[in-house]
Amino acid sequence: MTTGYIHSIETLGTVDNGGIRFVLFLQGCALHCRFCHNPDTWLSKGKPVAVAEIIEQLKDYKPFFDLSGGGLTVSGGEPLLQPGFVKELFIETGELGIHRTLDTSGYCRHGNILEVLPYTDLVIFSIKVIAPEKHKKLTNTGNEEILENLQSAVQSPADLVLCYVLIPTINDTSQDAEDLSHLVRSFPRRIPVQILPYHKLGTIKWRQLGLCDPLEQIPPAAPDDVRSFQNHLVSCGIEIY
Ligand code: SF4
Repeated sequence: MTTGYIHSIETLGTVDNGGIRFVLFLQGCALHCRFCHNPDTWLSKGKPVAVAEIIEQLKDYKPFFDLSGGGLTVSGGEPLLQPGFVKELFIETGELGIHRTLDTSGYCRHGNILEVLPYTDLVIFSIKVIAPEKHKKLTNTGNEEILENLQSAVQSPADLVLCYVLIPTINDTSQDAEDLSHLVRSFPRRIPVQILPYHKLGTIKWRQLGLCDPLEQIPPAAPDDVRSFQNHLVSCGIEIY
């Protein structure tokens, strides 16, 4: 039985508007986004847990999932750094008739996402920014591998939602909206985009870890900022989630 390394579990969560969710946060992420609100998930040391333990808990929650249209969401950190664990968990979850959501940044080896996609019902794929040089400033790396992995998610039969955290002065310009629209319009199927406002809830965690929040001076995104960015996307023919 495969073991995974987790950060935490949130039962009765509602992270993706998909009914009552059992959310499993896996430990480990190499993207190191400057705006991360969970930097405590970056290190790979987590609590070991067997697939069977999670499956036993999911069985107890199944009546709630059935009533609400919910299910299991695997998030992180980056869940695709543990593809064997997620694959086995998703296979067994599917056998119980429970919906499976993968919440990913797409920053992993290409083989990892290919391993998990066939057993996934919904992918929530988080895109940080499209311009490569901005991506390098905002994270640890460029976004070539991420965009390649996104193409595989687009080609898979799983439902797909793109998620974009809007950060004032960082990824909120008209050019950013146009770059994002251009990418989404290039897909062979219609993919909705969810715009989430940048918030400051992670600052305290950066401090607790003895780290300086690199975006300390950046304000949270206001509802008007989000509306205006969404309106720009809509004017480019993009569906908002
Ligand atoms: S991908 Fe998510 S968990 Fe990883 S650093 Fe970025 S925001 Fe944090």
